[in-house]
Amino acid sequence: MNTENLNTAAAQFGLPLYVYHSEKIESQYNRLTQAFAKVPRFKIHYAVKALSNVSILKIIKNLGGGLDTVSIEEVQLGLYAGFAPSEIIYTPNGVSMEEIEQVAAMGVQINIDNLSILEQFGTKHPTIPVCIRINPHVMAGGNANISVGHIDSKFGISIHQLPHILRIVENTKMHINGIHMHTGSDILDVEVFLYAAEILFDTAKNFKELDFIDFGSGFKVPYKAGDIETDVEEFGKKLTKRFLAFEKEYGRELTLAFEPGKFLVSEAGYFLTKVNVVKQTTSTVFAGVDSGFNHLIRPMLYGAQHHIENISNPNGKERFYSVVGYICETDTFASNRRITEITEGDILCFKNAGAYCFSMASNYNSRVKPAEVIWHNGEAHLIRQRETFEDILKNQVIPSTIEEPVLV
Ligand SMILES: *Cc1c(COP(=O)(O)O)cnc(C)c1O
Repeated sequence: MNTENLNTAAAQFGLPLYVYHSEKIESQYNRLTQAFAKVPRFKIHYAVKALSNVSILKIIKNLGGGLDTVSIEEVQLGLYAGFAPSEIIYTPNGVSMEEIEQVAAMGVQINIDNLSILEQFGTKHPTIPVCIRINPHVMAGGNANISVGHIDSKFGISIHQLPHILRIVENTKMHINGIHMHTGSDILDVEVFLYAAEILFDTAKNFKELDFIDFGSGFKVPYKAGDIETDVEEFGKKLTKRFLAFEKEYGRELTLAFEPGKFLVSEAGYFLTKVNVVKQTTSTVFAGVDSGFNHLIRPMLYGAQHHIENISNPNGKERFYSVVGYICETDTFASNRRITEITEGDILCFKNAGAYCFSMASNYNSRVKPAEVIWHNGEAHLIRQRETFEDILKNQVIPSTIEEPVLV
């Protein structure tokens, strides 16, 4: 995607706008597949929560991927996009037994992450194969809110509870067909990840009928200059070697699975918004844009740094800006950022806007959500219309007693 493509999309569909580049999703997918080319049974389950537009799901399907889902609604989206239930894994946390049973009845692969549900599910449905989410308690770093492998984490069944898992499996005669972990969002250190993988292999030996081992995600992508990214090729080489050795020892063919969200879609996304006002204060220059954390919450929620470019003046002289949104509370996208000189009406482009951006958007301040387009075969195609005021009102109901109050 170049500046011209982005300006074309903006002119065609208006602002604010999310633009996704399909080729980038494909190249990331292929990069990961190639890194594990020596594993005979390798599967990528795209984490739907990163970006759940049905057209994106169809791209993943065309590439041969499956899906990782965390809610029944995501499962429904996947089925709607054309995935077979067997290509979907469902990894919820803290959802009801009823929802898990509903999803299991659809034929989707269930992944259970607590002992209570494991026991209930195994007792009621001993013949339905289940994957177990293990928490190996290996810290993978990153923001505290997205690091899920630590000892206090609510995710997974602690590795220290393995004896209890085994007792439940023995008592219920349930069928465990997969072992899973998802330790967080940053595989910075391949060795740390491999250490967690060893814990998973040790756990796997206790189950005789496994079909797959799912290593979750945690692939790190660069957000700003100088950011380290996961060395996927080195990681692939090392884990492949270890996995194939384990498979031999285990004595049965196993699928190696991953569930990347961010890795596949983050860099494919661009968020475009117009500058409404340039405001000089005594200490800084604010660029106030026609959007806010209602459309892109990662900077406010995680302190994420999205690179910002002025695509209306890409070759201008750089100055320092604080880029802020229109939400009526602190709403900072970036502080003290070098950006080419901004004039009111310019279009700012936020990079890495594919993952956890639109999917976390809300209607806060009663604002409509932006449109989404995909840049595919050299053209922009609309994949979600911009909301309208009708959408803000859509589900609201006014009781007649309020509409026509009875005066007493
Ligand atoms: C969120 C999530 C993922 C994807 O994580 P990324 O950092 O986006 O790759 C994978 N698996 C599970 C279970 C998740 O909850």
